[in-house]
Amino acid sequence: MDEPVYLDHHSTTPCDPRVVEAMRPYFSEVFGNPSAITHEHGRRAATAVEDSRAAVASFFNVRPTEVFFTAGATESNNTVLFGMLAEGDHLITSAVEHKSILEPVKELEKRGIEITVLPVDADGFVDPESVRDAIRGDTKLVSIIWANGEIGTIEPMADIAAICEERDVPFHSDATQAVGKVPVDLDSVPCRLLSLSAHKFYGPKGIGALYVRGGYAPRPLVAGGAQERGRRAGTENVAAIVGLAHALRLAHDAADERAERIGHLRDRLALQICNRLGETVLVNTPLGTDMVAVPHVLSLAFPPQDGQPIDGEMLLLGLDMEGVYASAGSACTSGALEPSHVLAALGLDRETAAAAVRFSLGKDTTEADVDYVAEVLERVVGRMRR
Ligand code: PMP
Repeated sequence: MDEPVYLDHHSTTPCDPRVVEAMRPYFSEVFGNPSAITHEHGRRAATAVEDSRAAVASFFNVRPTEVFFTAGATESNNTVLFGMLAEGDHLITSAVEHKSILEPVKELEKRGIEITVLPVDADGFVDPESVRDAIRGDTKLVSIIWANGEIGTIEPMADIAAICEERDVPFHSDATQAVGKVPVDLDSVPCRLLSLSAHKFYGPKGIGALYVRGGYAPRPLVAGGAQERGRRAGTENVAAIVGLAHALRLAHDAADERAERIGHLRDRLALQICNRLGETVLVNTPLGTDMVAVPHVLSLAFPPQDGQPIDGEMLLLGLDMEGVYASAGSACTSGALEPSHVLAALGLDRETAAAAVRFSLGKDTTEADVDYVAEVLERVVGRMRR
C-alpha cells in the first residue's frame, strides 16, 4: 500500500473538509464573543452558536434549550455524574463504560454515593432485567453506554430506557460511539440525558454536547460566567460548535449508506482473518445483521498457544511497521499496557485480553485496505508465533 491504512476511527476521525470550510469564518472573520451582544460581531457569533444548537436539537427531536455544548463527551459525562448525584444517592452503571464514566464513579464512591456496576454477558450486553432488579428507592441515576467503543455492542437501549421511565429514574447514556453511526432516536429511547463528542463523526476535537431533558439541571463543573444559561462557564468555542453541528448533519445524512458499506467491509475483514488465522483468533465483536453492534468495529484477541501468549504491544508495533494503524483493546496507562476492562468484563483472561487488537473502519476505508490488513495481520502474528 502506498498510504498507511488507518483503522482507528473509534479513537478519532479526520475532520471532514466540508466541516473545516464551515468552521473557517469563525476563526477570524466572525470572531466575536457570543456574550458580547451589544455589537454586531458578538451578535453574529451568538447567532452561529444558537443556530448550531437548534440544528443539534432538531436531529434528536428535542428543544434547543435542552442542548449544551461542552469540551467533549468526557466533560458531558462528568457533568452528569458530578452534577446529578450527592452523598447518600444510588447510581447504576455497567462494567463496560468508558473511563470518563468509570473514573468519576470511583471518585463518587469516595464521596459517599452508592454504586451498582452491572455485569455484561460474553458479548458485552447488559441485561435490562438486571437494571430493573438494581433500581432502589434512592436510585438517582442510571447511566449505560449506548454503543461500546472497543467491541461495538449496542446495548438494549429501548428496554433499559422504558424500565427507567416506568420507575421514574433519570436515564443517561454515553452515546459517543453511536451518534453519527447508528440511529440515536430519543423518541423510541426516552433517555433524559445524553453525551456525545464531535470528533467521532468527522467533526473537530475538543467539542461535544450534552442533552438534558427540561426539568433537570446538573450542577456546573466549573464556576464562572453565565454562558450556556449558567450550565457551563467559559467563552464558547464558536468555530468548533459550528463544526459539531455541521458534522452531525453530514454524518446523519450519510449514516445509513456508510453503515451498510462499512458493515460489508467489516464482515469481509472478519472472514478473511478467520480464514487465515483459524481458531487462533477470537472475535470479540458481536457480528450479525440485526444491529447488535455498530458495524464500524472489529475487535480480536489472540489466546495463548502452547502456553505462549502474544504480546499485544509487539503486535501493534508489527502492524504499525507495515503501515496498518490500529489500536489495542487495552488502555495504555503510565507506560504499561493494562488489559482492557471491557474485555475483562466479557470474561477474557488477562493474557488473552492483553493480546487484543481493535480495527475500527471509517467512511473512506476500501476493500483493498481491509484485504491488506488481513494479509499483514497473518504475517505479523505468524512471525510472533514462530
Ligand atoms: N465515551 C466513549 C464511549 C468514547 O469512546 C470516548 C472517546 N474515546 C469518550 C466517551 C470520551 O470522548 P472525548 O475524549 O472526546 O471527551
